[in-house]
Amino acid sequence: MTNNDTIVALATPSGIGAIGVIRLSGPDALTICNTVFKGRDLSVQASHTIHFGTIRDGEVILDEVLVSLFIAPHSYTKENVVEISTHGSAYIIESIIKLFIRTGARAAKPGEFTLRAFLNGGMDLSQAEAVADLIASNSASSHLVAMQQMRGGFSSELKGLREQLIHFASMIELELDFGEEDVEFANRDQLRSLTLAIHAVLYRLISSFEQGNVMKNGVPVVIAGKPNVGKSTLLNALLNEERAIVSEFAGTTRDTIEDEMSINGVVFRFIDTAGIRETADVIEAQGVLRTREKMKQARLILYLFDSEQGIEEIEEQLAELALLGIPIVGIVNKSDLLAPAVMEVLKGLELIFISARDKVGIEELKVEVLRKVNLHRINNDDVIVSNIRHVEALKKTEEALDRVLYGLDNPVTSDFLAMDIKQALYYLGEITGAVTTDDLLENIFSKFCIGK
Ligand code: GDP
Repeated sequence: MTNNDTIVALATPSGIGAIGVIRLSGPDALTICNTVFKGRDLSVQASHTIHFGTIRDGEVILDEVLVSLFIAPHSYTKENVVEISTHGSAYIIESIIKLFIRTGARAAKPGEFTLRAFLNGGMDLSQAEAVADLIASNSASSHLVAMQQMRGGFSSELKGLREQLIHFASMIELELDFGEEDVEFANRDQLRSLTLAIHAVLYRLISSFEQGNVMKNGVPVVIAGKPNVGKSTLLNALLNEERAIVSEFAGTTRDTIEDEMSINGVVFRFIDTAGIRETADVIEAQGVLRTREKMKQARLILYLFDSEQGIEEIEEQLAELALLGIPIVGIVNKSDLLAPAVMEVLKGLELIFISARDKVGIEELKVEVLRKVNLHRINNDDVIVSNIRHVEALKKTEEALDRVLYGLDNPVTSDFLAMDIKQALYYLGEITGAVTTDDLLENIFSKFCIGK
């Protein structure tokens, strides 16, 4: 991967807008822009200054623009960066980008600006990934985890662990150099306590993933219960009308947005709501099995009963559901039809009473939903892992360290110890990008949007 050329892309969403921002990055960014810009001579201007002028294609004025300059290394990519704010016409933007390409720039690939920021040492790999997460964040909690990762708490924690391990790796390498002579440069007790300490940190980080994942991707929820208990009525009550209107404005497909709700900044994603909306007959035809499969994917089950079901049936069903090992909120719907005496009996069980049709009890239900997923409040410097790639690398590091510990307690030669320490270093390094392959980078950055 080389970055000695200059890349260009639209940084704002395509389509019509008040303004569009075109970004150039690379050694010739200033020269290329200067060639077609009429205004001040950009090549003699200071970094972090803004200049008004026109962009011309020959005699044709394409637009009046504002040009912002970021001179290397004081820019996002650490290269010369020029950002041109144009009027947000698709025609203007396309014409200017084409003009830049004719003048010597190349169209940027997805994520190429951030890739350069990484390759030029502006950020490590996990921070670069956090940039993509930040752009994709759609709730207070997904925003929080992305922001923390981007600010580098996780990176510096891993860097610290790696440095300590590198010290030992080099000591053990020294022992290998001495070959047959029976010398120990690396103090085994110190190595053991270091390994245990790192193990504890890894354990904490890996355990944080459950919460991190939920914060980033939302909590998968299933609404289940017999036909006609009011599942789709409840779903509609939970997905309030506001959302439907918002989705129309955003021009997004209703399905994706419709099936999410947010409580206190945490997103809950309803699984297989299409199934819920199917007629009762279809659900019955497909049987309980499918419902079970669906429930297993959930991190929370909203299980509905209706006023017709007796206490024995409810108790039995709750006991059976408990076997799934997934938090369950038991809900009695149609409370408007419930005789006060029956309600009294049912109150002995841990149930929420609602009337989905009349939107009664919905707020209490939401409080219970939040309580059941039990997200800890996280502080600004808590390190939360939310990326599956990171958690997998952390687990592999943990396994390598297990082998180190085994090696320390058993008659294992230094070369095996050295190999396992190196493996641990490798996996830790993969997270921050201290160790990378082209495939890994390609895989990560191709998922970015163009212009970032
Ligand atoms: P599903 O098959 O579980 O999705 O059930 P539906 O949501 O389609 O509801 C079945 C029937 O119960 C419909 O006629 C609803 O209007 C009715 N229903 C839903 N919630 C309530 C409620 O709170 N009170 C009453 N009385 N009827 C309800």
